[in-house]
Amino acid sequence: MTTTHDLPDSFRFVLVRTSHPGNIGSAARAMRTMGFTRMELVSPHRFPDREASALAAGADDVLEGAGVHQGLVDGLAGVNLALGLSARRRGVNLPELSPREAAAQALAAARRGERVALVFGNERTGLENEELARCHAMVRIPSVDDFSSLNLSQAVQVMAYELRVALLGELAPAPPPLHDEPPADAAQMERFYEHLSQTLDDIDFHKGRAPTTIMLRLRKLFQRAQMDERELRMLHGIFADAQRMARLAGEKK
Ligand code: SAH
Repeated sequence: MTTTHDLPDSFRFVLVRTSHPGNIGSAARAMRTMGFTRMELVSPHRFPDREASALAAGADDVLEGAGVHQGLVDGLAGVNLALGLSARRRGVNLPELSPREAAAQALAAARRGERVALVFGNERTGLENEELARCHAMVRIPSVDDFSSLNLSQAVQVMAYELRVALLGELAPAPPPLHDEPPADAAQMERFYEHLSQTLDDIDFHKGRAPTTIMLRLRKLFQRAQMDERELRMLHGIFADAQRMARLAGEKK
């Protein structure tokens, strides 16, 4: 079980496709002031970079320890709960949390020993729908409608601050766990979606239609379920049988 002392290590800040290295530095500083050190960078346009180091203002440990990844799935390796920050609702119908609610959820998960990611998008385009589809909930900082987009590092600061406040209040007893088993991690979920997609193909579910929309809807459904490893194994088993039956049916024709 995670002790209160280790809790900040359960959180990672994942910055996706960041354009300006200065924002990476400012985000590192924002994290560090609130006691968070784990940063993961997914396809940053420029990193490492002098501007990032300058704006980190001494939070060099965060930058030096930052992982750099090709895709979000790698950035979320080992993560059980991913919360995507977005100024806009987008097409993805995820549950929407305020930063405070998100911090409470994140802390409860960390207390259960789960690893939590706060995911931030590109400065201009934000998080793509496919990226949000890898998250379990969306977090919106309640800015005004006609000027809703914060600077990336300031959004990081708001979320890091809320987590810090939640952690400081962290003496109350842990709430009962939602599941007996920890939810599957991001890579296990990716393998599950690949198998699901392949199975739908094998049983000719798509009938020539584009599979993208249905796969996004199915992701939404299964992300909400927060399945554990045993449940995943059961579903993999069902898919394997369905694929076998589809093969047999194909051979009979
Ligand atoms: N035009 C983009 C804004 C990108 S700002 C968009 O509409 O999404 C860069 C990142 O900062 C966003 O991807 C998001 O992760 C975070 N961010 C900025 N403003 C936010 C807000 N009001 N609520 C939540 N996250 C926000």
